[in-house]
Amino acid sequence: MSGPLTYTSLDLIPTAVNDLRSVYNTGLTKSLDFRKQQLQRLADLCLENTDALIEALHKDLRKHKVESVIGEISPVVDECQFMIKNLNKLAKPEQTSKRFLMNATDKTLVRKEPKGVVLIIGAWNYPVNLLLLPFVGAIAAGNTVLLKPSEVSANTAALITELLPKYLSQDAYRVINGGVSETTVALEQRFDHIFYTGNGAVGKIVMTAAAKQLCSVTLELGGKSPTVIAPDADLDVTVHRLAWGKFYNNGQTCVAPDYVLIHKPLLKPFIEKLRAFLEKSYGNKPQASESYGRIVTDRHFDRLKAMIDRIDASKIAIGGQTDPSDRFIAPTIVTDISNDDANLMIEEIFGPILPVLVYDELQEAVDIINGRDYPLALYIFSKSEKTANWVLDRTQSGGCCVNDTLMHLQELSLPFGGVGPSGQGNYHGERSFSAFTHERTTMYKDASAEKVNEVKYPPYNENKYKVLSFMVYGLPGSVSRKVKTFMTVWMALWAVLFSKKSKL
Ligand code: NAD
Repeated sequence: MSGPLTYTSLDLIPTAVNDLRSVYNTGLTKSLDFRKQQLQRLADLCLENTDALIEALHKDLRKHKVESVIGEISPVVDECQFMIKNLNKLAKPEQTSKRFLMNATDKTLVRKEPKGVVLIIGAWNYPVNLLLLPFVGAIAAGNTVLLKPSEVSANTAALITELLPKYLSQDAYRVINGGVSETTVALEQRFDHIFYTGNGAVGKIVMTAAAKQLCSVTLELGGKSPTVIAPDADLDVTVHRLAWGKFYNNGQTCVAPDYVLIHKPLLKPFIEKLRAFLEKSYGNKPQASESYGRIVTDRHFDRLKAMIDRIDASKIAIGGQTDPSDRFIAPTIVTDISNDDANLMIEEIFGPILPVLVYDELQEAVDIINGRDYPLALYIFSKSEKTANWVLDRTQSGGCCVNDTLMHLQELSLPFGGVGPSGQGNYHGERSFSAFTHERTTMYKDASAEKVNEVKYPPYNENKYKVLSFMVYGLPGSVSRKVKTFMTVWMALWAVLFSKKSKL
């Protein structure tokens, strides 16, 4: 038990997974009608309990309802509606254009099948979105699902645990709660896919557990996401959009700008404009602003406060104030920071502290980015698409957004995910359906065309070699692919007709 949250008894976890597998094997979740109905129920859950969800998010993170509705609840409803509308199309088997001439008259399909029993492990910073958005994909794809909300955002986890069985099938979807022990037991069970959101250290634990059973994973991790401010950036726009994205949810966003790389001559006006914009956004006492969130727990607060305490006061251009009584950390801008700063430039900050580094040539900014792990997001502010592309062409990241922050994550038509240490796999929209789908190769061969097949059976001889050589591409020859296809289809049809006739 932790605060309002009751942890699941360890012995119930294997039972829950076994039950989910038995239900999966009945085929219940494969029915498209069932999936649509459950998606509608999930949308209803969000719509009928918006106020309760807002309240829980406020208790956990002091999230303002604007951020809760836009960043947490509405994307889940939108995604449910998208899946309901597009499910028939997404789940429809896909026909392929055949390439091997021997299969010219046969049927080839890619069946879109559920992976099976899946585990979704959520993180605390967007505890509704990061649990329920992948859940939408898992339902739509026809899986049974074990959900594990983050215990850190305990109020939201408790509410979701209470609401889910009231709206959705308890046979097909279960929630377990807990910390390391409970998640460890869950990871020992047999799953067909694990979808994990959180830090990379636990990501490795998840991947190791998955490797033991050769189970596929989606890892939505984090990292230090840079923001490059090019010499030609519109500084007002840059400041507004950067500050908004950095201090949204109190800097506790996986794709929050982690550090800034700015062209040296822009530093001074940048800081002045930032100071003015922060005052406009949160007043001169951000602690009193309803729009400004809080750090999730004392443990997370202490880590960030220790970071601030280690910064030389002369380098704090804005902010630096903290108050443990309500886990408040002021929007803090730090300048005169070098790329190898051991305090701010090694681990992901994940809070309202923003180091600003300067560069003379854009290449230096690119070198700093390339000297680090591939980030989850990369932001570039520039009036010129050419300059933005110049940076994009020379760097790597999970995603990127030019002239704004976070918005690419909010746009559900775009795939969202990391690369290398910032994650693997992606989701949102159609990609969420794919993330939980097994593409099952299916070929229906014509059982009557045995004449065509005889050519492939031993004993091999020179004639069979010539016919087969004609049927395959890639060997040197004078006949074009088109002619080969045409002739082979005719040969196949003739063989089918011949073999049917000979049966009469
Ligand atoms: P967290 O503490 O909520 O942990 C995530 C989940 O892992 C929880 O459900 C927790 O119970 C479980 N867990 C923790 N320790 C474990 C262990 N030893 N074994 C098994 N399971 C364990 O969240 P967090 O990791 O603090 O989240 C912050 C990190 O997540 C940041 O790095 C952030 O960038 C990243 N993140 C990424 C995304 C994304 O979509 N890519 C979104 C949010 C957060």
